[in-house]
Amino acid sequence: MSELSAEEKERYSRHLRIPEWTEAEQLRLKQGSVLVIGMGGLGSPASMYLAAAGVGRIGLADFDHVESHNLQRQILYTEDQVGLKKAEQAKQRLLQMNGGIHVTLHEAGITQKNVEEIFNQYDVILDGSDNFDTRYLVNDATYLLKKPLVYGSVFRFEGQVMVLNHMESSPCYRCLFPEPPAPGTVPNCNEAGVVGALCGVVGSLQAMEVIKLLSGVGKVLESCIIKVDLMNGRFPKIAITKDKKCPLCGNSPKITNIQDQNYAVPCELPSVTMSNNTEIPIELPIEETHALQTSGDAYLLDVREPSEAEIAQIPGSLFIPMGQIPERVNEIPKDKRVIVYCHHGMRSLKVTHYLRSAGLENTSSMKGGIDAWALAISPDMARY
Ligand SMILES: [Zn+2]
Repeated sequence: MSELSAEEKERYSRHLRIPEWTEAEQLRLKQGSVLVIGMGGLGSPASMYLAAAGVGRIGLADFDHVESHNLQRQILYTEDQVGLKKAEQAKQRLLQMNGGIHVTLHEAGITQKNVEEIFNQYDVILDGSDNFDTRYLVNDATYLLKKPLVYGSVFRFEGQVMVLNHMESSPCYRCLFPEPPAPGTVPNCNEAGVVGALCGVVGSLQAMEVIKLLSGVGKVLESCIIKVDLMNGRFPKIAITKDKKCPLCGNSPKITNIQDQNYAVPCELPSVTMSNNTEIPIELPIEETHALQTSGDAYLLDVREPSEAEIAQIPGSLFIPMGQIPERVNEIPKDKRVIVYCHHGMRSLKVTHYLRSAGLENTSSMKGGIDAWALAISPDMARY
């Protein structure tokens, strides 16, 4: 096994002063490789910390150009780079930071065609993409190729980080969200806003998980999700489990080959009208939900995970975790309106679209989720 040079020992001395971090850990980083998908808000801080930390080989997958509205969070880039290709600009910057590493470009981005060939070149995959087509493709490919996936996502003030497909017992993204969201609920189509500093937090957490995976230092985020709630300064950690019925990693998988899948997620929102022509809104405010619940005119359907329901639940709710909805759809009564809720209203919106497409047209999603309910209706309810 080779050794660190005197220059490298000096360069990484603040790592080497950490009792748990010897030259062996630093060497493993040097010999390790990571592919960063998406050189945007997450890919920027993540790749910068990985380059500075001395990860020996970094791949950058991005086909896009720098735009002025990127600069608020994509801190790799400067004003004079607007209009230039992100991956190439990022490579130059990372090599300026650390000339001792290798940076490879994948300027076509990650596609169904090239995913397997590219992933096979790296030890760890970091997903900083902002769209569901890529997210599902990356999840499926990392699982099938047995590569650990460091997942991160951001939305307004909130983000999340998980390590998926790491071990036999690790859940995959489809264990939590079996199918891409229904048309019209896709944040990348809506161009949702996001706080720049949140990307710094989530991207840095992702970089840290890659460093742990490659070096062997510390404990990898296993079977849990770190939620980053910067609006309220909270970082809850929630357990996640492998779903035996998962279409990818479950006991009888339906997805066994990347090339057979359709990863394109459409963006149009279908207009759904009740058969008696009464418009039922897709999203329902908390107060209206509360009124319908109080009058007994609606069922509330909780689609969160069991670990979340243990923390708090709206009394009288039906409970079916999102991943089980397709096979348990018959358990949902049809004699009243159905109002779906989750933590913040994203999963419930997906389920609402799903249920409407399955014929339950009187379904709505509770806006803001149980967190908004706790704030507006039940101040004593535990929040997470
Ligand atoms: Zn799975």
